[in-house]
Amino acid sequence: MLKKLFFVGIFLQAFVVNAQLFAPEHTFTHDDTLRGSITPQRAWWDLKHYHLQVRVNPTDSTFTGQNTITYQVLKAEKLMQIDLQKPMQVTKVVQNGRNLHFTRDGNAFFIQLPQLAKVGKTEKITVYFTGKPKVAVNPPWDGGVSWKHDKHGHWFIATSCQGLGASVWWPCKDHMYDEPDSMRISVTVPQGLTDVSNGRLAKVTHHANQTSTFDWVVRNPINNYGVNVNIGTYTHFSDVFQGEKGALSLDYYVLPDNLAKAQEQFKQASLMLKAFEHWFGPYPFYEDGYKLVEVPYLGMEHQSSVTYGNRYQNGYLGRDLSGTGWGLKWDFIIVHESGHEWFANNITYKDIADMWIHESFTNYSESLFTEYYYGKEAAQAYVIGCRKNIRNDRPIIGFYDVNNEGSGDMYYKGGNMLNTIREAIHDDALWREILRGLNQTFYHQTVTTQQIENYISTTAKIDFSKVFDQYLRHTAIPVLEHKYENGAWLYRWNNCVAGFNMKMGIRIGDAYTLLKPTEAWQQLPLSAQELAKLTFDKNFYVNILAVK
Ligand SMILES: [Zn+2]
Repeated sequence: MLKKLFFVGIFLQAFVVNAQLFAPEHTFTHDDTLRGSITPQRAWWDLKHYHLQVRVNPTDSTFTGQNTITYQVLKAEKLMQIDLQKPMQVTKVVQNGRNLHFTRDGNAFFIQLPQLAKVGKTEKITVYFTGKPKVAVNPPWDGGVSWKHDKHGHWFIATSCQGLGASVWWPCKDHMYDEPDSMRISVTVPQGLTDVSNGRLAKVTHHANQTSTFDWVVRNPINNYGVNVNIGTYTHFSDVFQGEKGALSLDYYVLPDNLAKAQEQFKQASLMLKAFEHWFGPYPFYEDGYKLVEVPYLGMEHQSSVTYGNRYQNGYLGRDLSGTGWGLKWDFIIVHESGHEWFANNITYKDIADMWIHESFTNYSESLFTEYYYGKEAAQAYVIGCRKNIRNDRPIIGFYDVNNEGSGDMYYKGGNMLNTIREAIHDDALWREILRGLNQTFYHQTVTTQQIENYISTTAKIDFSKVFDQYLRHTAIPVLEHKYENGAWLYRWNNCVAGFNMKMGIRIGDAYTLLKPTEAWQQLPLSAQELAKLTFDKNFYVNILAVK
């Protein structure tokens, strides 16, 4: 029955080839454009450094502070856009000791400089802010601030804000194309609590007013949504990993009750680093160290401050998303969120429409972790097992310049696309070279889909542009149609973008062949005995259809 239903499914799919045509009209707002595009008021200055100082007051749920922004002038302009979302308020903007005039347009503020900025000059501006940031509804997917308590009634507070945007709690240039080269994060909390943020702890200051300030220093470029505040009665333990760039410090911050469990479960962090340095090259932030920080939500890829809420168990809250059993061999949050240090924090999308660059490679990194410890077949079983979670509802790539994410298929379908491309390359040493090469070539950069596509096609010496079109911009799954006529086996691609030319792996007995199907019928002389031994390489995420 399955196959027929499948057949029916395909025809449905055929209609979906032009999904864009049938997609419900997306209407974007002025706010979406202000948020999602590189406006002229953003484009003329290059962000260099943030010094964010924030006082967190749990009693009235307020965040109050200032952000000193260092930037270099690229073009002579005098109106600067800084983002801070309602209900947060900018209270003052100062430059060279002078208060500057500013206006608000929704979640964006436009600051009037006294005169045209001088090209090439490096300047500072300080933005003062206060307010009650949006409370997280379903973190990390629907973020903001989580104001929680641990079981002893102590405050347990954390921020998470991908998609929603960092400007939900602090004033910044809230577009992903431009990152500061470094950052200082100074967080003041009630005494007795500890703040853990990104990078390394530089200083702790206890104040007479029963508060303490934790100064964290990040010595690498960092994306906005990666900047985080985690506050609790943390206890700390540490370790050292001997990696490709030498000694890497590992620091762990957990609630005291969970110390023993964490000391056991977090041993997986070194296993993860070993596997991912093998596949992707050195951990991208040796200067800042690697951390795992317990939080009151599932987890998030905050750079050099990966957050953890998987309750010290393997799988995804104890479940295996692949249904194969392999996903229960390791802790999903440690592996997935740490994989993002390479794909999200090292290589970062310029526009969230290209979020697949983060999630497809990181979903795929789960199988690479499995492969490193359990072998290639286990890894492939894991990727294929995850297909049941694919929906093919809308394209993986979203709409540009309006802060719009594409389909959730960027995870499992994206991972299957990469596994398919690997099979089409059919050279595992070259594939590893490509994954390492991506991290080296785009080291600490923000990138576009086109750059990633070009890099893979160029390095593999195979033009994958149609393959990327198919899987990233359409919802139809290619169908390899085949039939047997007069002693010949015929095959072609259907239900695909025009010009689709992906290779396809078949086995006849033990012999493996990479076919080069197109939309035109091609034939392979095969005897009936050989036909009986023909199987299709399941690693290709395609549909197979015998036709008459
Ligand atoms: Zn992810």
